[in-house]
Amino acid sequence: HIVASEVTYAYREGVPVLHGIDLDLAIGERLAIVGPSGAGKSTFGRMLAGVHPPTGGAVSVGGVRLIDLPLADLRGHVALVTQEHHVFVGTLADNLRLAKASADDAEISDALGAVDALGWARALPQGLETEVGSGGHELTPAQAQQVALARLVLLDPHTLVLDEATSLIDPRQARDLEASLAGVLEGRTVVAIAHRLYTAHDADRVAVIDAGRISEIGPHHDLVARGGEYAKLWHSWQSE
Ligand code: ATP
Repeated sequence: HIVASEVTYAYREGVPVLHGIDLDLAIGERLAIVGPSGAGKSTFGRMLAGVHPPTGGAVSVGGVRLIDLPLADLRGHVALVTQEHHVFVGTLADNLRLAKASADDAEISDALGAVDALGWARALPQGLETEVGSGGHELTPAQAQQVALARLVLLDPHTLVLDEATSLIDPRQARDLEASLAGVLEGRTVVAIAHRLYTAHDADRVAVIDAGRISEIGPHHDLVARGGEYAKLWHSWQSE
């Protein structure tokens, strides 16, 4: 159960970009965060995932502040997913064991299977033992993203923060990845930072972050009916 209370953040002292955000995530809920560019969505996402400690306030899981958890424990609770894809030098199996050093080949295969990557992984010259990363067999961006998702399956956090901000992937590949991603999201609490609005419509709740504050929060239909900031964003996005 993740709770943010009065979270503030300043990249530079005296220049806060988040101004006291409260958020109580229901276990298993899908929350979409939307808002204008530069409003603080990605920054707040990093706070929720414990990537940066807040400048003020706290994010806690089960009443324990994220910043008080050892990194290995933290990543078993909440992880940040971006569309940056890092493949490290080593074998494909090594790339997955970064998430869980004790994982055996069967677990690694299962994790790849969960993200629809087992077919191509098995077809590599040496299968799981193929050297990848710089100087090794080159994975496509979509394969690299699947490797990142398979790492998440091994980490098995109950909460995921998805930041679409850094989408470098070809939209056609992104569509192929949606099924892989859906498999990883199943049964977890998900905070999706929606730089594009389609994610918001299907979420349980939508939070609008505007100038470092949550200005509106509620189900999509309620916010559209309210005719406020979200309704404006939604209508302008639909007419694009
Ligand atoms: P977008 O939708 O454009 O990605 P966002 O809502 O995710 O925007 P953030 O990226 O969280 O917004 O940025 C919030 C504010 O913090 C902006 O004013 C931005 O310029 C500033 N900011 C973001 N990252 C840094 C950084 N690393 N150093 C200094 N300022 C930063």
